[in-house]
Amino acid sequence: MSNKTLPFFDLKKQYFSIKEEIDSAVQDVIASGNYILGPKVKEFESKFAEYNSTKFAIGVNSGTDALRLALEACDINKGSEVIVPVNTFIATALAVSSIGAKVVFAEFNKETYNIDVQKLESLITKKTKAIIPVHMYGLPSEIDKITDIAKKYNLIVIEDACQAHGAFYKERMVGTWGDVGVYSFYPSKNLGAYGDAGMVVTNDKNISERIISLRNYGQSVKYYHNVRGSNCRLDEIQAAVLNVKLKHLNRWIEKRRKLANLYVNKLKGLNIDLPCEFDGAKHVYYLFVVRVKEREKFQRHLETNNIQTMIHYPVPLHIQEAYSDLHYKKGDFKLAEEYADKILSLPLYPELEEEQICYVCEKIKAYFHEYN
Ligand SMILES: *Cc1c(COP(=O)(O)O)cnc(C)c1O
Repeated sequence: MSNKTLPFFDLKKQYFSIKEEIDSAVQDVIASGNYILGPKVKEFESKFAEYNSTKFAIGVNSGTDALRLALEACDINKGSEVIVPVNTFIATALAVSSIGAKVVFAEFNKETYNIDVQKLESLITKKTKAIIPVHMYGLPSEIDKITDIAKKYNLIVIEDACQAHGAFYKERMVGTWGDVGVYSFYPSKNLGAYGDAGMVVTNDKNISERIISLRNYGQSVKYYHNVRGSNCRLDEIQAAVLNVKLKHLNRWIEKRRKLANLYVNKLKGLNIDLPCEFDGAKHVYYLFVVRVKEREKFQRHLETNNIQTMIHYPVPLHIQEAYSDLHYKKGDFKLAEEYADKILSLPLYPELEEEQICYVCEKIKAYFHEYN
């Protein structure tokens, strides 16, 4: 096995494990002649709402657009400030920028990678309109504390749950604590389509109706447009795929957790920082992120042993060129900068075999024997 590459993702393997179900669902759509906002989208919206115990779920074409539409539906606009964790995937910030609002970056907790609740209040100004907590790598944020702060200052909470399908905190699903929750079904996510797709969930009827209109040219009745919307619809084929996959999601999450546990048991005691869990929070391990000194050397060692790894993410948002106009500088977010040089994501997906995890752990142990 050592001369065969252990890939970071293996999306084909999952497809082949449910091929018949997927093929028949996709064929049904093609044969139906109903390709846009048809029965499959309706079915998936209702099943995903039920899965999350939320009143409304509105299918859209990506996680990024789900965020953008959620912001628009909550009347966030030019002149608003929106707090976003500095270590998230850039799409969270891009959605804020795309509606002309100002991104205000927030530091994160050094154990959980989630927004640092202690430092949140100091970022709030008169212009602050919303907070977007991100449940990073599949671990819930301390969302109860965040919604408490939001209430105190009358702020909107939009949960970015793009990495955390099926995660919950204190028995309530992430994405349902704030005013709106946002999901991506990008192929590699815990629940992934075979293309781009996303979802907005909410218990607020008004927000739901606005998003239904905004995703479809701003019309509530065909050819009658009350607002300037755009085309951000979830398509029938992707919805058909997601209907099939949703049935398997909990099983896949349990497998991820089992493999994560195996990693933790095999790696504890080594000079490597492992992901944390905390009371009441269910981690769904979209990514298994560790921290090591001399990350490049460590990564090369794994590469030499045909183990693919990735970095999520190598450059914190405050020093990304795209955000240079916000005038943040190096040193503004020391933890983010330090972690960007230390973090590494190890392969973890439900189709991995336990012996493959053991193989990765053996090679990691060998590394520390050799260099420590
Ligand atoms: C993937 C992701 C997004 C964007 O989703 P797309 O469907 O790719 O647009 C947004 N936020 C986070 C945290 C993500 O991981």
